[in-house]
Amino acid sequence: MAPWAKTGGLADVSAALPKALAARGHEVTCFLPRYGSIAFPPGRFIGSVHVPVDALHRSAGFYERELGPNLRVIFVEHPPFFDRPGFYGDPGGDYGDNAFRFAFFCRAVIEFCRSRGYRPDAFHAHDWQTGLLPVYLKAFYPDDPTLYRVPTVFTVHNLAYQGHFSAATLGPLGLPDSLASEDALDWKGNICYMKGGLLFSEVVTTVSPTYAREIQTAEFGHGLESVVRSRADDLVGILNGVDYEEWDPRHDRHIAAPFDETDHTGKAACKRALLAEFGLAAEPEAPLIGIISRLVHQKGFDLVTEAMEALLARPIRMVALGTGEPDVEAGLREFMRRDPRRFGVRFQYDSGLAHRIEAGCDMILMPSRFEPCGLTQMYSMRYGTIPIVRATGGLADTVEHFDPKRRKGTGFVFEHADTTGLLWAIDEALSAWAKPGPWTVLMQNAMSRDFSWALSAERYEAVYSHAQNSI
Ligand code: ADP
Repeated sequence: MAPWAKTGGLADVSAALPKALAARGHEVTCFLPRYGSIAFPPGRFIGSVHVPVDALHRSAGFYERELGPNLRVIFVEHPPFFDRPGFYGDPGGDYGDNAFRFAFFCRAVIEFCRSRGYRPDAFHAHDWQTGLLPVYLKAFYPDDPTLYRVPTVFTVHNLAYQGHFSAATLGPLGLPDSLASEDALDWKGNICYMKGGLLFSEVVTTVSPTYAREIQTAEFGHGLESVVRSRADDLVGILNGVDYEEWDPRHDRHIAAPFDETDHTGKAACKRALLAEFGLAAEPEAPLIGIISRLVHQKGFDLVTEAMEALLARPIRMVALGTGEPDVEAGLREFMRRDPRRFGVRFQYDSGLAHRIEAGCDMILMPSRFEPCGLTQMYSMRYGTIPIVRATGGLADTVEHFDPKRRKGTGFVFEHADTTGLLWAIDEALSAWAKPGPWTVLMQNAMSRDFSWALSAERYEAVYSHAQNSI
């Protein structure tokens, strides 16, 4: 949850959706582990509870922080589990005790509510880390006077990360071994937390309508497609929104100069500053392509490396910001080695720089193999930075291919995850760039798209009501 703990889009959504719901009059409490990235004490100490997840007597401390009217975050403190440099793992891989860490988190949240007599209208759990929350509710609390019939809405932000653990974990977690069955948590002899969230929640949502269809297929289901299909009647795709208080070039504190759809002078200043920041040649007439991403197979940047010779031959500049898999990083680094005046890379996590790239580039590249929603393309549209994307998930739902004749569209969209598709889209973008008139139209189309949270928050309200009615 931004700004406290962020690896990708989930953090932005976890911050923005509660804010949007609170603004609509709901009382929202967010729970977040007090990770090592979060200064201690993170808020006002409000108590502790015993949490039975393994043989040790563990307890969770709770620290509350008001974020605004109707909105608070409660940090769940347990230093042996959460006071670590990483959230889910370190460079060597996932932490070996993740099964216990996140079971602990789920049970601590439930125990906090129970012990306080605090009855929410609904729990809204996100991704595999919280997959056990509805499982615990159903296993231990169906008759609890406080939590009886409180529904869970479970949101899949990325089905590729599932939380697989040994079935032997169930015993120490206090859960019955019968849960290791095919119709519960079983995953090829192990257990799967994501499956728990999918099967034990009243409603399942995911972060775009297209991804909701895709994850019911073998190509995108990562083995869970039949489980997802079994919930098809209770599955809803709701596009993430954009928090325009954070992402708007009219008042972005990170960028060199403000701008808007009627006056792009500020954007030119942002581009000059960005070229200088990366040490690239100051040639404003050449298009500057940006990359801001986790550098993992999902995101398709190996296609960019594969197309290196063809890209070097084109009149483009490129800046990339991201961290991830060593071979993807190495591929991008090679561009810089070949032509350091045109290509720049930063393998780090830097929120301010992400804003400066959104503002200073002309185009942003997202050749994802799959993309549940994708936020970067929505941010970039507001900054007049034209997305070049593959037609998958939320990218397909948010970017419309530009048609210069009809003056319609907001970006460039290719179908096939191969270098031919990628280069076709880049060439489409370059030929549009060569004509200032149409390019200005394209920028205006993109900048005027509105992805604010209000609409999505309204859809979540309907989902919460549906969940209440179906328990
Ligand atoms: P995902 O959730 O799959 O990582 P999204 O496009 O939904 O992809 O969200 C990515 C978010 O993470 C955006 O807010 C983007 O600006 C941010 N981001 C990704 N990599 C970095 C980085 N290296 N430094 C700063 N921000 C980053």
